[in-house]
Amino acid sequence: MKVLDLYCSQGHVFEGWFGSEKDFQQQRSAGFLQCPLCGCVHIEKGLSAPRLNLGAAKPKAEPAHSTRQQAPVSPPSAPPLPALATEQHANLRALQAAWMKASRVAVKNSEDVGAHFAEQALQMHRGELEEKPIRGQASLEQARELLEEGVAIMPLMLPKDGGENLQ
Ligand SMILES: [Zn+2]
Repeated sequence: MKVLDLYCSQGHVFEGWFGSEKDFQQQRSAGFLQCPLCGCVHIEKGLSAPRLNLGAAKPKAEPAHSTRQQAPVSPPSAPPLPALATEQHANLRALQAAWMKASRVAVKNSEDVGAHFAEQALQMHRGELEEKPIRGQASLEQARELLEEGVAIMPLMLPKDGGENLQ
């Protein structure tokens, strides 16, 4: 199966799927190929361009006997770059919002042990203290020691406190 980037005499770009290059030529000369947008039959094969993976993955089947490369295709529905940037920005904001929410839930469901955090977290890890969700302050050095001991800790972003606390 070959995926070809096609364009019509009006400049509309679309994808065509063919068993081979020959199939494409035959279908075109028989007038079977039509632009899906304007219906014109003057179809040309597009130039090769790097494929942008913006959409869902399309199934691919490469014939073993063919040494020709598949023509890279840009999906006609690909959003323009500014729209993509906006979308990525929106995703980032959603991620930050989810992070903040998770932080708040963690705070709500944990006991504030303040400066004893590192000490207690380590004791729990070693089984010297009953395990429970705790939060508190830890210095970077303490956090590093906890991580080295294999203690699962998570930094929290709490704008209300005006700083970063390590849990
Ligand atoms: Zn067209």
